[in-house]
Amino acid sequence: MKKTHVTIAVAATCATIGLTTQAQAVTLPTAAAAFDIQLSATGLSATQSTIFDNAVTWWETLIAGYIYDISGVSAFNNTLNITATIEAIDGVGGVLGSAGPDGYYYQPGAVSPFAYATAGSMRFDSADISNMESNGSLFEVIVHEIAHVIGIGTLWDVVGAYDEVNAPGEYTGAWGLLGYQAECDAGATFVPVELDGGTGTAHGHWDETWSCTDGNQALMTGYINSPTFLSMATVGSLIDLGYAINVTAVPLPGGGALALGGFGVMGLMARRRRKAAA
Ligand SMILES: [Zn+2]
Repeated sequence: MKKTHVTIAVAATCATIGLTTQAQAVTLPTAAAAFDIQLSATGLSATQSTIFDNAVTWWETLIAGYIYDISGVSAFNNTLNITATIEAIDGVGGVLGSAGPDGYYYQPGAVSPFAYATAGSMRFDSADISNMESNGSLFEVIVHEIAHVIGIGTLWDVVGAYDEVNAPGEYTGAWGLLGYQAECDAGATFVPVELDGGTGTAHGHWDETWSCTDGNQALMTGYINSPTFLSMATVGSLIDLGYAINVTAVPLPGGGALALGGFGVMGLMARRRRKAAA
């Protein structure tokens, strides 16, 4: 029988990564409403379907809920509906997948305090999905694409965290910047955003060349370098989008648990490995 598992190493806690050196105490926002993803996927094998489900569970565990409960003032039912399709994109290699929100709620005005995707779609290249499954990167790629549906790199402008016209390459959302300062560069005034790669890559990812070690392995850069890790800039950016983050524990598909300390979330998301049948 084949068995899959994910191992995650916890690299740091609040104290060890230096958040305590910040001027103010960091108090994380709490959830006012639950967060739920409903995934509708077609064209998947049974094993691929399991990996997709695991990626959804990963997100539902990391996100504790919506900081602002808008269910009472809109038709929003606190459910993010995502469709996933497998289709021909550009042959083997190159683009592995793409994703984004199809609709979202925000508070009209210059800068909304939240941007809540209500629906989104993900595409995965039919020429690559088997390879991604066998080389262990599929889980990471799905997690990456769901991040875009939620708003990482796609709804930054709505919450005033990124302006690609007037300040290209500079993410200034408060929580994302705080995370980046803690993990990479204490003196940073913005989080570097990717400017290369053209449409679909530029302005929607962290810069591949961060000023800290292994920055290019961050989950939300534009190029996958397994094993990836969840950067605190990404965690912070989720808060900038209006999400409360569960920083107590993230159960893993394999049954383990990732213990996180305070805002000091820095996991090393190892490659998903398939063990050959013994
Ligand atoms: Zn991406």
